[in-house]
Amino acid sequence: MPTPPTHPFTFTRKQSASNKTPRQINRNLVFNLIRTRQPISRADLARISGLQRSTISLIVEDLIRERWVLEGSTGRLPRGRRPTFLELNHQRAVIALDIHPSQTTVAVTDLGGKIVAQNVVNLPGDPNKAIAPIVAAIRKLMTDHADKSFDGIGISLPGRADPKQKKPIFAPNVNWPMQSIQSKIHRATGLRVEMDNVANACALSEVWFGDSDGLNDLVVVNVSEGIGTGIFSNGRLLRGANGMAGEFGHVEMEHDGYVCGCGGRGCWETVASNRAGLRYYEELSGRTAPSNFSALVKMAQAGDTQAIRALEKMSSFLGRGLRMIASALAPSEIIIVGDITSAWHLLGPKIEAELKQNAFSTAPRLRPAFEGNTARLRSAVALVMNQGLN
Ligand SMILES: [Zn+2]
Repeated sequence: MPTPPTHPFTFTRKQSASNKTPRQINRNLVFNLIRTRQPISRADLARISGLQRSTISLIVEDLIRERWVLEGSTGRLPRGRRPTFLELNHQRAVIALDIHPSQTTVAVTDLGGKIVAQNVVNLPGDPNKAIAPIVAAIRKLMTDHADKSFDGIGISLPGRADPKQKKPIFAPNVNWPMQSIQSKIHRATGLRVEMDNVANACALSEVWFGDSDGLNDLVVVNVSEGIGTGIFSNGRLLRGANGMAGEFGHVEMEHDGYVCGCGGRGCWETVASNRAGLRYYEELSGRTAPSNFSALVKMAQAGDTQAIRALEKMSSFLGRGLRMIASALAPSEIIIVGDITSAWHLLGPKIEAELKQNAFSTAPRLRPAFEGNTARLRSAVALVMNQGLN
């Protein structure tokens, strides 16, 4: 007779990554040490990680068996054994997609999330024709890198994918049928396709790639056409009853404010997203805004006073919203993802000052994602890698 399960409930594969066992945490640690310090010997892994040599050996054997890691060159020491250095298997690769309403970046990355090649696909105006050019771009990259073996495709979405795929995706800023992209790309490539909300994926990526490993409570705020948050709480991703947790972007901040993509008015994202920044520039300068947000950031960096004022206004609203998140969730860290982080030296202090205003407890640490503009692509890699371990 089979033994009844001892767990009170079953984790789905997606959830289990954020409920890591000590063995998985150690494995993640070792993988990340190899990723960041390669080539590296087993002895150095033990010394830096503080783990037992025997534990390191077991984990390394696992990583080698699964072809994530290779034994490379032999080291030369003055005397004694010659250590064999370990490095990531550079033959293996992941396709990462960072989807925005009007364009999508498609990239080939290595297992460490390093970008090998990337293409930006501008999506056609006709919403029914949006997916074909994305699929074509993926196929082209796979052909151009036919020497690699692809582990899967990760997609970071500007919306919420229902975990059970029974309901349409909530994506108020996108007008094309995103929910069919997973099956279409799978059919076209034969590869496993993992997809999640971009902010959730960035939260997993922060934990997976080690930048915030060991932290149990962090929130990623993705500032883009809209604003989404990924909440990692008590050591796991918080999804809520229907996968919709984290939609702080649609909490009303201004009564009778601008109409939002969700149908409401004055939502946080209408006053603090990239689109708000562009609108502030037009209001303050009386001039037409640049065609995209990164151009506005570049203008501010070059000293354009109106661009700086527009971004400061956006930052101030961003910080006000972060106060709400800090009060609701008390995370140890809030990480900002998006183009705004490239002007962090100008805007970070402003956002932080707002976050700390009237704080009734210690405000969370605030920082931009370390990898700046590529954070969203790396988050798509984390979706694929994360599954590989389970
Ligand atoms: Zn809204």
